[in-house]
Amino acid sequence: SRSSYKWQRVLLKVSGEALAGDQTQNIDPKITMAIAREVAAVTRLGIEVAIVVGGGNIFRGSSWAGSSGLDRSSADYIGMLATVMNAIFLQATMESIGIPTRVQTAFRMSEVAEPYIRRRAVRHLEKGRVVIFAAGTGNPFFTTDTAAALRCAEINAEVVLKATNVDGVYDEDPRRNSNARLLDTLTYQEVTSKELSVMDMTAITLCQENNIPVVVFNLNKPGNISRAIKGEKVGTLIGG
Ligand code: UDP
Repeated sequence: SRSSYKWQRVLLKVSGEALAGDQTQNIDPKITMAIAREVAAVTRLGIEVAIVVGGGNIFRGSSWAGSSGLDRSSADYIGMLATVMNAIFLQATMESIGIPTRVQTAFRMSEVAEPYIRRRAVRHLEKGRVVIFAAGTGNPFFTTDTAAALRCAEINAEVVLKATNVDGVYDEDPRRNSNARLLDTLTYQEVTSKELSVMDMTAITLCQENNIPVVVFNLNKPGNISRAIKGEKVGTLIGG
């Protein structure tokens, strides 16, 4: 049964930074609860929601590589494990308010979560369960934004909704220039040529090659997550 909304199946990307909020702890439970409530509301409307979580609130490989002899791959595996912590936290929060949720990891941790199996993920979504993809792509040197683009393409989701701490993409850095303008729409070309820090090149290129639109929006505004999922206008739309 198709929902009457713009998207039938979405890939929501939640960065680690967004989960941390302004807490001194790594995760702000008010934020995970807000995400859970808004996702609950849209799954009741029949929209299928898959989530990719980041891990930057706990560990970011690139900023640790090199220190104390830590090679990049080891650092990145620690980063991927950080995303699993966030995924389990978010799953527990979702289930505490009655949303059936499955975590699938890109590398096996079968006591903790299911392994990533594409067909199984799709089946969960069709049954109205939320699927959280953890451990990124499973490969060092990649990001969870790339994992979001990749999983989106794999499960035939229609859009990547990138939840951040800013209202969208600006023409200049809003922290440095108070005249910076929030952009309504952008092409992939503009993102890559102007080097706008929306997503890393691998992620944005993967979206472009597969015609996956990306919406960048602020998750701290109440109602924004469900608005974005329902296809209402929020933040910046990147496409064509
Ligand atoms: N990571 C990785 N491969 C992936 C995804 C993530 O190696 O496919 C590692 C990388 O070290 C990264 C960390 O996991 O810094 C956390 O992910 P990311 O920085 O993308 O999280 P976010 O910025 O969304 O919080």
